[in-house]
Amino acid sequence: MTPRRFSVAMTKAFDETLTRHLIRSDGQEDLCLAMYAPSTGAERDTALLRDACLPLEGERKVHGNASVTGRYVLRVARQARNLGLGVVILHSHPGGRGWQELSDLDADAEASYAQLVEQVTGQPLVGITLAGKDHTWSARRWSAAGSAVDHVDAESVRVLGARLEVSWNDRLVPVPAPMPSQLRTVSAWGERPQADMARLRVLVVGAGSVGMDVAIRLAATGIEKVAVIDFDVVKEVNRDRLVAATRRDARLRVPKADVAERACRSAATAASFEFGRHQLDVTSTRGQSTVLDYDVIFSCVDRPWPRAVLNQIAYTDLIPVIDGGIGIDTFETGQMRNATVRTHIVRPGRPCLQCNGQLDPAQVARDRLGLFDDPTYIERSGQPVPGKQNVAMLSASVMASQLALFVSLVVAPSKFGEPGPLRFSLTTHRLEHVQTTTSPACVYEKLVAHGDQRIPLAQTVADAPTNGSIAVRAVVGLVARYVVALIRWTSRR
Ligand SMILES: [Zn+2]
Repeated sequence: MTPRRFSVAMTKAFDETLTRHLIRSDGQEDLCLAMYAPSTGAERDTALLRDACLPLEGERKVHGNASVTGRYVLRVARQARNLGLGVVILHSHPGGRGWQELSDLDADAEASYAQLVEQVTGQPLVGITLAGKDHTWSARRWSAAGSAVDHVDAESVRVLGARLEVSWNDRLVPVPAPMPSQLRTVSAWGERPQADMARLRVLVVGAGSVGMDVAIRLAATGIEKVAVIDFDVVKEVNRDRLVAATRRDARLRVPKADVAERACRSAATAASFEFGRHQLDVTSTRGQSTVLDYDVIFSCVDRPWPRAVLNQIAYTDLIPVIDGGIGIDTFETGQMRNATVRTHIVRPGRPCLQCNGQLDPAQVARDRLGLFDDPTYIERSGQPVPGKQNVAMLSASVMASQLALFVSLVVAPSKFGEPGPLRFSLTTHRLEHVQTTTSPACVYEKLVAHGDQRIPLAQTVADAPTNGSIAVRAVVGLVARYVVALIRWTSRR
């Protein structure tokens, strides 16, 4: 059995809180405790840091080798247990640079509390070191099963703000070999950003007119692990937008995920390229846990329900979601009035899709009811169905803007991170910054780093296409009736 991968993530604001405590003006090393929420993916576990529990008077020693008292550890462990969280022990190496290997002394100190913490909280102890010279985080997870106390190293520590800053464990995720086919890419932003970007695990949700092109360009850029999640197959009606699909693909109804794999493999420039092919729906629990294995998500779906699932994960699981879409406006005569492209990165500190006006909870409820698959409902309601309009020439603008946001997030030219929500209007060719802010009542911003304590939006059913079995429809119907009742109840109040 391959061991589960392990990673740590935190917001930039949390990183700053910890850094203020750990990096001292007197140059001595320091130490503190915090709590984490587990986020359980299909193959990866992530510890999401939250709630710094700084030491009270007398709970830690700074001079000499910094150390914590058992009283401090027990206080935080009890607090974590009551909240269903785990405990993190952090210390600094003020003179350190790069990923820090664990010294015997540090290992003994952390190991001595691993058993106690796991017994009290039911969650393994996580140890973290901050290297002061270049601000590199390193992490490991302890296991105190039986009498043996041992640890496994994390593969990365991710810090999410306007930029996604990743400390990589080079031993587990080696720096990619530079390739002659990437010379021009590397000349744009340099070797280090390329190495950091290429190691990200990037997921594209929806292999349609936008997602397919995004995935191909990620592979061509040298990203080593690109994945696509899509349960649909190619049809003749898709071919004016799905430029990588052939007539034969449409005739044989080849899964879009297979077309994406073929196109990405032929475009890839990484020395070792890995393609993740997921013929799944993100609204299933299996689809959702697959999403949690990735570092960055491109949301290239129009349907409200999958977008609602991704919108939540951006906050609860600290995985930035680069979302985009296009709205085409026509006159009554059927002629084009305008097209508007909206793109934005969903993450803590930026408005969620609901606050940004990009996701309507009532539409999510209709999608959960399966109404968008029901032609009689569509006819009766006169409601526009998400995703029915798109044009290959214009979806390229959505892709271009989403990829440019990705570059801002991970390369951050001139140290600018991602710019916030954008809107492009085709009639005037004007690009604007959208001035939306997070609503004080935003439920997702309150669930930052809650991981597995997220609101259950995905359903436990077969992962086949949703317009499949009767059982799926029954569960969808039941959930949706509940959601509609809830919406009616809240709107009456
Ligand atoms: Zn919101």
